[in-house]
Amino acid sequence: MSIANVAEHEGRELAVDLSGQLRSMRAAHERDGVANLALRRDRLGRIAAMVRQNQDAIVAAIDADFGGRSREETLLAEIFTSLSSVRHARGHLAKWMRPRRRAMDLAFMPARARLLPQPLGVVGIISPWNYPLLLALSPLVGALAAGNRAMVKPSEFTPRTSKLLAEMIGEKFSADEVVVVQGGVEAGAAFAALPFDHLLYTGSTNVGRKVMAAAATNLTPVTLELGGKSPAIIAPDAALDAAVTSIVRGKLFNAGQTCVAPDYVLLPEGQVDGFVEKALAAAANFYPDLPDNPDYSSIVNQAQFDRLRAMVVEAEAQGARVMPAAEAAGRKLPLTLLLDTTAGMAVRREEIFGPLLPIVPYDDLAQAIDLVNGGDRPLALYVYGRDRSMTDRVLDETVSGGAVVNDCLIHGGVENLPFGGVGASGMGQYHGQDGFDTFTKLKPVLYQSRLNAMWILNPPYGGMAKGLIKLLLKR
Ligand code: NAD
Repeated sequence: MSIANVAEHEGRELAVDLSGQLRSMRAAHERDGVANLALRRDRLGRIAAMVRQNQDAIVAAIDADFGGRSREETLLAEIFTSLSSVRHARGHLAKWMRPRRRAMDLAFMPARARLLPQPLGVVGIISPWNYPLLLALSPLVGALAAGNRAMVKPSEFTPRTSKLLAEMIGEKFSADEVVVVQGGVEAGAAFAALPFDHLLYTGSTNVGRKVMAAAATNLTPVTLELGGKSPAIIAPDAALDAAVTSIVRGKLFNAGQTCVAPDYVLLPEGQVDGFVEKALAAAANFYPDLPDNPDYSSIVNQAQFDRLRAMVVEAEAQGARVMPAAEAAGRKLPLTLLLDTTAGMAVRREEIFGPLLPIVPYDDLAQAIDLVNGGDRPLALYVYGRDRSMTDRVLDETVSGGAVVNDCLIHGGVENLPFGGVGASGMGQYHGQDGFDTFTKLKPVLYQSRLNAMWILNPPYGGMAKGLIKLLLKR
């Protein structure tokens, strides 16, 4: 079997022996020993070459899967980001792989201590549809940098991209290095039940619960990259024009189908009208002539489109004011502002994952902070403001997976910053060295010195031992 292909015939019949695939990869891992720097760099280089050589095919596949995905968005958010994670890892790998010195407690001197980075073995990666290349490759880069082999299960909702990924990986990697497993929910469930050495899942919080439960059976450690409602808080002294431009740009990138898209806006009561006017104008400027503007991406499928429409219909029926920036057509859904929403509406309860933007006024900053803290811990939090004490207060008094001051979204592209949620938005982190460390066992090793004082503690405990214990307790 060259590629572990879980063929799903009409969504049902699962062929193939995933366990056998995992066993053969683990056997290869044990047979071949620890991958050295050259091999790891070579594997990462193969990922970069694969992306570069297939750039046009990737753009076309994602465009077809979405029924309209902006070429520039794919180049920026899938190609550039994937290549930059490879470049970063290749450049830093030698340093990451080196043993890390740890200070020795005085009581154990002259022993020395180090952390030895060791590959875990075989890593499983389950990825979603919204950035179908990046969210499969970015964890893969971390797993390969750390010297592991990997099985990747991409989303069934971007089938052309998943098929292309399987073909590209099949060309560049042997079946005991990396394989792509295609399929839907059943394949995902079977995949999550495999006894991987680590499982990284990116997707919704609800499915994340199931993945963690399946992994628990094998005591497989998990990294869960989940979703949630990421707030954008505009402080009273913020430069409103700049804040609006940033929020609208971030919200409309990939039509809001970004895990760290600003989900809702909190702003001072008196600034609501100004925000609405500027946001609608910014959306019209960014994306004129909808639905034909190729810069604006479609909602990925009809089910997602209907889910978003249902949120709007429910909010409107319950008294919200709905202000679309343009007419929806096909699956292109324009920026849609929602005012006078209430906490019970789906648009305020559930992750939006589309271009709907509830505007929630506050009287004072404490109220905005309370509102954030009243919900699940968000994946990202954005705060706009000039006064550092104000933005620091928001950062100090809220807990989120990540945060950006005076912009949104872009922290996800910075390899030196760990990426991951907290609470319901996820656990664990990756990107850059944090990804390397996630897929590595940092084995603590104590090196005893030939000359050491352990003999004093040999039983039976005499005066010397008792004296030493007394000394140790005094410290
Ligand atoms: P999803 O949870 O429906 O699916 C994600 C993956 O899980 C797919 O490959 C799917 O086949 C698989 N899957 C489905 N059921 C499964 C099961 N029972 N066991 C194992 N695997 C299963 O998510 P989605 O709709 O594709 O993605 C959208 C969600 O992902 C949003 O909530 C978004 O916020 C989140 N997300 C998070 C990040 C992040 O980095 N934190 C990034 C992108 C998306």
